[in-house]
Amino acid sequence: RFPASEPRAGRSRLLVLAGPTAVGKGTVAAYIREHHPEIHLSVSATTRAPRPGEIDGVHYYFVDDAEFDRLIADGELLEYAVVHNRSRYGTPRAPIDAALADGKTVLLEIDLQGARQVRAAEPSATLIFLLPPSWDELVQRLVGRGTENEEERARRLRTAKVELAAQSEFDFRIVNEDVAAAAREVVELSEATAR
Ligand code: 5GP
Repeated sequence: RFPASEPRAGRSRLLVLAGPTAVGKGTVAAYIREHHPEIHLSVSATTRAPRPGEIDGVHYYFVDDAEFDRLIADGELLEYAVVHNRSRYGTPRAPIDAALADGKTVLLEIDLQGARQVRAAEPSATLIFLLPPSWDELVQRLVGRGTENEEERARRLRTAKVELAAQSEFDFRIVNEDVAAAAREVVELSEATAR
């Protein structure tokens, strides 16, 4: 694959972690945030309301629709998407450029639509797909966390089937058997791509 223009140096240090609903992307990202301060974890902007315990500027930038529109209009987002038919999420561009310029590795925990946009915008980005140990395990995790009703669960599982089929578009696949182990694999990939 040859990008049309010369990729900016260090863009392979831009890592994207995606995967189907309930696979544990958020948990793996949170583990990396806590244990690997050397990795810059991108903070997304979102129009959804904060959940208890979520801090503005740490977990997300919580913005209203008008502000999200402005971010798009001003070209401040590297990618954005409507996720689960509900809220909008997007990756602010400036903090990523600053971290890469600093020589840091940057990790984005985003959905499949976003991963595809990053691939298109930055062909040298490293795309990592997080997989459940099995389909049954994915269903168990979704039921177990109990944050969705029956109808929403069924909808997310349909989406997950479609998303799992997209794994071949990714550079690497990691099976999330255990959070710490999966996080370690992400960190190892980040170290390998930084070389
Ligand atoms: P939650 O609302 O549970 O925090 O996140 C819901 C979904 O939004 C997750 O699948 C997460 O990967 C995705 N997401 C979070 N931030 C972004 C972003 O900046 N862009 C995109 N495309 N998806 C995001």
